[in-house]
Amino acid sequence: MAKEELECSFCGRKKPETSLLIAGLDAHICDRCIEQAHGIVIEESKQSGNEELSSDLMLRKPQQIKSFLDEYIIGQEYTKKVMSVAVYNHYKRLLQPPSDDDIEIQKSNIIMVGETGTGKTLMAKTVARMLNVPLAIVDATVLTEAGYVGEDVESILTRLLQAADYNLEKAEKGIVFIDEIDKIARKSDNPSITRDVSGEGVQQALLKLLEGTVVNVPPKGGRKHPDQKFIEVNTEHILFIAGGAFDGIDKKISKRLNMAAIGYKAAHDDGEDVDLDNLLQYIIPKDLKDFGLIPEIIGRLPVLTYMDPLDANTLRAILTEPKNAIIKQYKKLFSMDEVEMTITEGALEFIVKKAIEYKLGARGLRSLCEEILTDAMFEMPSNDDKKLNVTKAYAESKLSKSTIKKLKAVS
Ligand code: ADP
Repeated sequence: MAKEELECSFCGRKKPETSLLIAGLDAHICDRCIEQAHGIVIEESKQSGNEELSSDLMLRKPQQIKSFLDEYIIGQEYTKKVMSVAVYNHYKRLLQPPSDDDIEIQKSNIIMVGETGTGKTLMAKTVARMLNVPLAIVDATVLTEAGYVGEDVESILTRLLQAADYNLEKAEKGIVFIDEIDKIARKSDNPSITRDVSGEGVQQALLKLLEGTVVNVPPKGGRKHPDQKFIEVNTEHILFIAGGAFDGIDKKISKRLNMAAIGYKAAHDDGEDVDLDNLLQYIIPKDLKDFGLIPEIIGRLPVLTYMDPLDANTLRAILTEPKNAIIKQYKKLFSMDEVEMTITEGALEFIVKKAIEYKLGARGLRSLCEEILTDAMFEMPSNDDKKLNVTKAYAESKLSKSTIKKLKAVS
């Protein structure tokens, strides 16, 4: 075929009518057809999302799930292991073909106990990212019993639907992370005369969702009202992960371990020393009950795990090691302006020291970096300096007392 006769084998356009014509073995394709085909591929893969999910999950065994979590989360070995098994079992349950034996695998909803900023949300986000399923993060403190001021429990599912772009099938296999579950603890041990609408009432309302039921969900959120159309969402295959700091639960644990006040080493049941710096590792469901979660809720969150407090080594690692570590992000930002940013070990240790000193936790690391680097990020894109070496002295000079006070106030 002469060169000028080349045409797109799909739409028949002649070469001069196209912006680009790519040659294959026996055929050619133009830019427009490539775009159209690309659109079809995206649509198709959206529709076959489920198959993707199943084949992905069949491929990933708990150890592989943990390796994925290792890339993003520092430490928290116990939770990562427990989480990998729970997630694996949950999706195995979901993918199991119907069988005629009577063995029904119970849902492995998870509850994570740990101080704020220790990575609970990150854990839920990373699992959702790995599985490529929608994730809704909700704060239990805004929920109230139906009919009271606040959000109905169903609003959780509205969020999940939104996260799934209203693809019901995807939402029904998604993950819901309920943060601050400790804030809906029963206010007192005695059932009171006044109703506890934001505490026990919410726990009661959550029960059905956690176990698996069909809920009428207002797609746009807000209150239910009679002439609104609902979407029926089945929560049976939704994985619920709850998290909370449970402030003060360590005292209940230590009491249970039959120790007096914190401050001296006591012998644990099996003769091992109790690690007083990390009492959460001894947590059992009874402690949650003593804290004010009702037994039915505890029963529906059968996988109980804890987060370790973050020590200096962990904070130091969080700065540079995860796949999207904070320092890596800043380096990338600077490199977009052709600025090569380096940071000394001394500066990193200084940042960690300040985060600990002012009890800013892992969340504080980012705010501290932001304060230290703001001047450079403001000035360097418009000047000729192409190298930035952040030393301890540089970091110190950028962090005045007032900025630290400010950070402390917002953390
Ligand atoms: P929580 O939900 O427990 O309050 P988050 O998951 O929101 O804590 O963590 C707060 C910040 O600290 C996040 O930006 C997260 O990336 C970081 N972070 C906390 N713990 C870790 C960890 N173990 N590994 C990596 N980053 C962490």
